[in-house]
Amino acid sequence: MINLSMLKPTGHLTLGNLLGALRPMAAAQRSPAGSICYYGVADLHALTVDHDPARLRALTTEMARLLLAIGLDRSTLFIQSHVPAHAELSYLLECTAHIGELNRMIQFKEKGRNRPSTRVSLFTYPALMAADILLYRPTTVPVGDDQRQHVELTRDLALRFNRTYGEVFTVPEIVTAPAGARVMNLQDPGSKMGKSDDDGGGIIHLLDPPDVVRRKVGRAVTDSDVGVGSVRPDRAAKPGVTNLLDILVACGGSAEGITTYGGLKAAVTDAVVAELEPIRNRYADLDPGEVSSVFASGAEVCRRATAPMLAAARTAMGL
Ligand code: ADP
Repeated sequence: MINLSMLKPTGHLTLGNLLGALRPMAAAQRSPAGSICYYGVADLHALTVDHDPARLRALTTEMARLLLAIGLDRSTLFIQSHVPAHAELSYLLECTAHIGELNRMIQFKEKGRNRPSTRVSLFTYPALMAADILLYRPTTVPVGDDQRQHVELTRDLALRFNRTYGEVFTVPEIVTAPAGARVMNLQDPGSKMGKSDDDGGGIIHLLDPPDVVRRKVGRAVTDSDVGVGSVRPDRAAKPGVTNLLDILVACGGSAEGITTYGGLKAAVTDAVVAELEPIRNRYADLDPGEVSSVFASGAEVCRRATAPMLAAARTAMGL
């Protein structure tokens, strides 16, 4: 079984990323013998919108180091741009993709269409994503709702390629990912806790020190219900409190015996600090040379693993 996941270095990783993505990625390392995990920092995908090169480099380095700090050391870790096959196969797939199908992609419709300065790469990045997947030949791809359209396009491109140029690609099946913990923004519990710098205090980053966690949780939005039994989950009527309860449980805490919002926030703070502390410590202890060498050998493994697929696609297309 091949597990493949990539994260875009467009912001600092959050508690949402940890509970919703990184923890399941770490758990997959312990799945049946013979399974292989490839985990990548998708720096090429970060070029599809305005970006600052120095910031991108810093975020890529930080993310690489964090992947090690959270314990993904039993996987093949790589940085996408260090494996040129991604960009090369992406171009070949662009040459099989149709304007109409890329034009229908929801992300492009929402974020780029009809804006003259939209980067062309925002339009074509689904082909890069298809390359990211097809190069590693996974037989299944688990997806949440937001990624389903991309993987459907990946299948369409692979099927068309195989029909037109010969059987080259393994066409992956789409499986629905088990609904993981969904962490909401502490200041705006109607929206998810996403990667961002300008967060207004609602986002917990993995490297936040304890006092910052305490302040952010302390200011989290709750509600004005202060009666007996106010500390209870109710996603519709009490989204802020429900989010805090979810975080508490996901971080190994328990709400038993807690009757006030102050008590709940103190417990959430303790649980989150305990969850993040080992990550911060390992991050601080990592030697930059060691991180570089892990990612250099990961890229080498990926170059070797992807070379046959790229060669087959090139040959089939007449190159
Ligand atoms: P972000 O919004 O942080 O940029 P991405 O869309 O790049 O996140 O997602 C990276 C991974 O982290 C995905 O697997 C996504 O499901 C997961 N993830 C992101 N935010 C959250 C969240 N708030 N709660 C749970 N999982 C999340």
